[in-house]
Amino acid sequence: MKNFWCEIYLDKLYNNLKIIKEMADDKKIIAVVKGNAYGLGVEEITTRLNDKVDYFAVSDINEAALINTDKEILLLSPLVSKDDFNTNLNNIIFTIDNKAVINEFPKDKTMKIHIYVDTGMNRMGVKCSELAGIISEIKEKYPNIIVDGIYTHLHNTKNVNYTLKQIEDFKKCTEPFKDEVNMIHCLNSSGFINDEIRSASYFTNAVRAGNILYGYDGFNKGIRRTYNYFAKPVNVYEVSKGEHVGYGCTYKAKRNIKIGILGFGNIEHFGFSKDIDKGFFFNVVRAAYNSLKFRPEIFDAKSGRGIRIVSKPNMNITIVDMEGLNEDSLLRIEISPILADSRITKKYIE
Ligand SMILES: *Cc1c(COP(=O)(O)O)cnc(C)c1O
Repeated sequence: MKNFWCEIYLDKLYNNLKIIKEMADDKKIIAVVKGNAYGLGVEEITTRLNDKVDYFAVSDINEAALINTDKEILLLSPLVSKDDFNTNLNNIIFTIDNKAVINEFPKDKTMKIHIYVDTGMNRMGVKCSELAGIISEIKEKYPNIIVDGIYTHLHNTKNVNYTLKQIEDFKKCTEPFKDEVNMIHCLNSSGFINDEIRSASYFTNAVRAGNILYGYDGFNKGIRRTYNYFAKPVNVYEVSKGEHVGYGCTYKAKRNIKIGILGFGNIEHFGFSKDIDKGFFFNVVRAAYNSLKFRPEIFDAKSGRGIRIVSKPNMNITIVDMEGLNEDSLLRIEISPILADSRITKKYIE
């Protein structure tokens, strides 16, 4: 990949965090940094956030190992295993999401756990009815294990009434333990930014923030996107009327045009959004729709104007129509960091 990079705006990240804290009413902030900090680079993001959040959360022990922090790191559900308990990282909080795993606990080292309660998602989790039994079993058999928290996941926040009922169930379920566990939490980004859901969660004392931290959600609360992808042409060519460009001669110049070669393509996970094969009928309808409505993924950074891709993105290059652009034009590329190749150069901007 060449002349292609991702800019990450730390002032926007900090400002998103500030908004979250203002809304959080003293709840602890668990910064969710799984998936390479949602594609923005886990090492750098956690270094920058280390003195600003209370905890980090990741989805497995390998991700946790990449974080250089004195903060505790919550390993999120699902699926903790015996091997994870053998880690030599000493700042891990393990999520216990099934009963059987209790038998795998080490006897010889102090370990913090959070118990994940299933309140409807049915992915993993302990049922509310099992919670008391599990907690007393742990206390009895493992004096070295600290039950530090209980949490659940809000998986259907678009349905507010469903979620409010879910939170009510979670409240009933955790009520008996509120004085003996340190943390009770259920809010994720979409729950947190909904005022009704957030107020109903008044009895919880932490929020797990991912999407709103990076600015994928919460724009109505002042949350802002923290990244942009940019490219500059690697090369510019003239193509005469009637000549073909790209694979399979799918494109034929209708006039003399100038084309620009951009140094990224399918390898960097660009160019798939319109390419998923959903069968003949769907493809025909989509082709018709796309030809009527131009939905650009590449923009002139200066004017914001959409730029046309010539032919289709290739493995390592993408060709664009340079009309109105020059060799030095800065192009903004619309691509989700979650999907984009993690090796794309990242520039962290204060
Ligand atoms: C990923 C994850 C989160 C963060 O969700 P966002 O919607 O990005 O805030 C919170 N809790 C759990 C259990 C998760 O797996």
